[in-house]
Order: sequence, then C-alpha cells, then structure tokens
Amino acid sequence: MNDIKIIIGQFVDYLLPELTPYETSVYLYLLWNSFFKNGTQEIRVGKRTIASEYGRGSRGEKTNYAHVSKILKMLEEKECIKIGDSNWNGTLYVVNLPKDIPLVVEKLADSSLQDHVEEDYFNDPERRLEIFERDGWVCQYCGEKVTSENITLDHFIPQTKEGKHTKENLKTCCFICNSIKSGKTYEEAAPLLLKNIQERRGHHI
Ligand SMILES: [Zn+2]
Repeated sequence: MNDIKIIIGQFVDYLLPELTPYETSVYLYLLWNSFFKNGTQEIRVGKRTIASEYGRGSRGEKTNYAHVSKILKMLEEKECIKIGDSNWNGTLYVVNLPKDIPLVVEKLADSSLQDHVEEDYFNDPERRLEIFERDGWVCQYCGEKVTSENITLDHFIPQTKEGKHTKENLKTCCFICNSIKSGKTYEEAAPLLLKNIQERRGHHI
C-alpha cells in the first residue's frame, strides 16, 4: 500500500507535468494493466486494444490507431516505456515506474538537494547571521559578547557524531570555546569549558 502511495505521489508530482493528457492516459493504461494488476512491468497488448480502451469518442478507429502509435513513440522517447517485439498477441511493452524514469530521477535529485540546502545553516552566510541574532551575539558556552572578529558557529552535537547543520544544532560560539568544544559532546567538553572560563575570569580580575 505504501509503495502504491509513493508511486502515485511521484507520478503526480514529477511525471504528470511532463506528459500530455493523451500520453498520461496511455501510460496509466499500461501501468495499470501491468504493475498494478500483475506486479510485473511487462505487458503484451495490441495497439488496437489500447486505442479501443482509451480512445472511445468521435475519432474513427484508424485515426486512433495512428494516434496511439504516435503516443507510444513519444512515451518511449521520454523513457516511460520501452517498446519490444510484436507478434499476433500484440506488442511487448516494458513499463518503467516513475522513480526509474530519467525525467523523474532528475527532479527527485533536485528536490533532495534543495532539502539539504534548506537545512544548511552552517554554510549560508545569511542563515549564520540568523543564528547569531537568535543568540544575541553572545557565546552560548562562556556567555561573553562576541563580535564579527571572534564569532563562529559550534555544532552542539559534533559533526563527527552525525551532528547536522541545523538551526537547533548550531550555537553562537567564541573562538576560544569553539577550540575547546570542537569535536566533543557537550558532556565531554563541559569541565574543560568551565575550567577555561574560570581561568579567563580569574585572569581579568
Ligand atoms: Zn565562549
């Protein structure tokens, strides 16, 4: 059931905009009668059958036949199907699922790339600024004011432990705290941070 939802979702979001209405109905006809009915991606059917199944209407049968041939060719050009051999029982079609069609593959890659960029608060200068503003330009470990001279972003969960460039995982940090915390979890770094902060404060007094 889940698979079907994914297939239909990918079809609607990524393939539908690339197909004409006629191509859509022929592709769905083939997909329905192969994968959805039998779980296979192959179907052998005559063009006349396809024409009569989907092309009912004012067109004469001959027009429909030529039209269906043209649409099948277009679908093959768009790599939605592969046209195989023909015999008395019809022509063999291999029907590609949306996720295997290059037009869809391209868009899927684009959209996952976009998600990645959207999540990236580390490399995007404007988003970095957003975090500095959120934290009031104060180091989240020592509490000192930071300036553009000594400000940086710390991964609360370190990158070596799968910490992401997300808003939640990034903290405004001064250079000193960052060099102490770097690569450690907060639990590991806390005693060292504390010691350093005490030293710094002691030094100032
Ligand atoms: Zn600090």
